[in-house]
Amino acid sequence: MPDKLQDVIEELALANRILGNEGVLDAFGHVSVRHPGDPGRYLLSRSRSPALIEAGDILEYTLDSEPVRPPTAHLYAERVIHGCIYQARPDVTAICHHHAPAVMPFVIAGKPIVPVFHLGAAIGEEPPFWDQQDEFGDTNLLVVKPEEGASLARALGDHPVVLMNRHGATVVGADLKELVSRAIFMCQNAEYQLRALMLRAFTLGASPTLPRGEIELAGAISRLPNVVGRTWEYWSARVGGGSSVAAAPSRRVKRVKPARQAARRKTGRRK
Ligand code: MN
Repeated sequence: MPDKLQDVIEELALANRILGNEGVLDAFGHVSVRHPGDPGRYLLSRSRSPALIEAGDILEYTLDSEPVRPPTAHLYAERVIHGCIYQARPDVTAICHHHAPAVMPFVIAGKPIVPVFHLGAAIGEEPPFWDQQDEFGDTNLLVVKPEEGASLARALGDHPVVLMNRHGATVVGADLKELVSRAIFMCQNAEYQLRALMLRAFTLGASPTLPRGEIELAGAISRLPNVVGRTWEYWSARVGGGSSVAAAPSRRVKRVKPARQAARRKTGRRK
């Protein structure tokens, strides 16, 4: 993980765009990272659709989810999710809260998402459920109060993922790349699990869930730096970014192109 603040901000903006591009986030949902120089703060965009987020949108918050500088833009209503989890989990450096279409059938039906293929093992053996109704009664289902965020963090416990009944999911990671991988693999896993369960309804196939030993061994693979690095490069390319500092290479290409075209016009060369 880059240690300079600006690099982390660029990486966070790219993580937003990747998760938007891969169908984890849409107009809603958000991703944050702990401040690289101050574990008592975190970085999160202003209220904006993740696919559109740029480095200039990123703001700094205390772990009470108060903006460090007076805000000039709307803030995400559910930012307490991030602050409360950073308070409860010193090992967590990145968090994503989302309502991905792949997970919604499971959290609506109250059916656990469990690992059904090797990369799906990144979500852990069986993510816990959290139901806001249990502790807070009727709400608008948004996690906006500190006590709601703290309750969610308790339900997450030491897990990498918590499922939120009738709402979505929250995923954590040791760094941004691990988080992005886990969030995307979780959605792929949910899609495969649902399809496999539908097939099972018509056959007498074995349970699609990975055995405990396979979850442990395959889960370790999905966290390897070369696996996380390879997927990050692939998803960055799909969203049109090169690496953690995505804007630099694309600007260079834009400057070179017209010069080459001008040279071709001068010499009369074609293709
Ligand atoms: Mn939400």
